[in-house]
Amino acid sequence: MRTIGLIGGMSWESSAEYYRLVNTFVRERLGGLHSARCVLYSVDFAEIERLQVAGEWERAGDVLAGAARGLEAAGAELVLICTNTMHKVAAQVADAVSVPLLHLGDATAGAVRAAGVRRVGLLGTAFTMEQDFYRDRLAGHGLDVLVPDAAGRAVVHRVIYEELCLGVVREASRDAYRDVIGELVRRGAEGVILGCTEIELLIGQEHSPVPVFPTTRLHARAAVEAALAPDG
Ligand code: GLU
Repeated sequence: MRTIGLIGGMSWESSAEYYRLVNTFVRERLGGLHSARCVLYSVDFAEIERLQVAGEWERAGDVLAGAARGLEAAGAELVLICTNTMHKVAAQVADAVSVPLLHLGDATAGAVRAAGVRRVGLLGTAFTMEQDFYRDRLAGHGLDVLVPDAAGRAVVHRVIYEELCLGVVREASRDAYRDVIGELVRRGAEGVILGCTEIELLIGQEHSPVPVFPTTRLHARAAVEAALAPDG
């Protein structure tokens, strides 16, 4: 089994899920008392969020690149950035280490394609929904990506930073997300990517009329498959 390196803390509410899921999937695959070999480097999210808002992505990338180097030094044989948004600096992080970076967008797109979905809604932070880095990655896999309108994007973004990243799960916010999903479905979405690693703490399949793609779960699953793949 390869050692999985997790760059987490963004937020730690979702990193805890990553930790739970990689261990769950290893136990499912290997049985008994097996658990995931993994190393977690958890950053201070307040520092990262400040850099996001200031548009200082390269400096944020430096922080994550340092974390990735620390994971490699601690024995990680593959590295995950445990947030969709910070995949904006994925190339900078990948360049900092000699072990592979398992890109969340690729793991997600693979699952969407495997489900036979081509036109897909994307929920996430404003950075993820409005900038090119993530949508282009999905489009590179042949997906047609829809994002909510400006009012929908604002509500989705606000709930992430003001509630979910602080461990707050509110029924009113779930209803608001359901409305946004309903609007995406009316515009033709055949599935919805929960493209922020905290959204699956709020929204499950039972809250959507079309298939949902929970990125934390999909990324953790891909990590375990890579960790348990035969050599070479
Ligand atoms: N966890 C979130 C994501 O997947 C948002 C937090 C962040 O900005 O990194 O995008």
